[in-house]
Amino acid sequence: MRLRHKPWASEFIAQQSNYAIANPEQHKGKWHEVFGNNNPIHIEVGTGKGQFIVGMAQKNPHINYIGIELFDSVIVAALQKVVDLQLPNLKLLNVNAKNLTEYFADNEIERVYLNFSDPWPKSKHSKRRLTYKTFLALYEKILVKGGEIHFKTDNQGLFEFSLISFSEYGLQLKFLSLDLHNSDYEGNIMTEYEEKFSSKGQRIYRVEAKYMN
Ligand code: SAM
Repeated sequence: MRLRHKPWASEFIAQQSNYAIANPEQHKGKWHEVFGNNNPIHIEVGTGKGQFIVGMAQKNPHINYIGIELFDSVIVAALQKVVDLQLPNLKLLNVNAKNLTEYFADNEIERVYLNFSDPWPKSKHSKRRLTYKTFLALYEKILVKGGEIHFKTDNQGLFEFSLISFSEYGLQLKFLSLDLHNSDYEGNIMTEYEEKFSSKGQRIYRVEAKYMN
């Protein structure tokens, strides 16, 4: 993700407190109150500019979505989309996913989406990958029993690492595709990175991983 410093980003985020939730730890265990209903909650970790989660929220009004993005200069693009569309079932958090258990209680989330996560190709950085076992443990804590991770990437190395990481953690793998755009998977919503990489002819890998306990 190419970052441009945007001095106005933090102010814009603060102004849109209806969509960009400022103190997420205050809502731990009570996200249904934030949405005003008991619909399932799906989160996307590393939302980027938000095309995927905005598309999902439009398509599935009976699911609540929370997009999590580390950089304010990036999440503002997602926030602008949510504000323009006035989506009631989508909130954004400008936080680091390593602290997920500070923001969500046990069993509060039904699904985690990981889309085009940073690959961290050097093995000495493998612990930073969002599919490393410590992140899988965080997701397990906040997910319901039988909760799922849905993962897409263009990066073969990250995909192979993630399949091993999921398997070693005891997750059940489903609907594995080595070429999503030439598969029979229906209803795919593309992310910004997915559009960019697939337009260059790169294959998109996808898998669903289910916690069994
Ligand atoms: N998912 C988007 C897409 O497919 O277009 C963005 C992909 S981009 C390569 C990865 C994004 O994940 C970046 O915006 C980065 O800031 C975010 N990210 C990486 N680590 C994160 C973390 N620990 N917590 C929150 N966001 C993170």
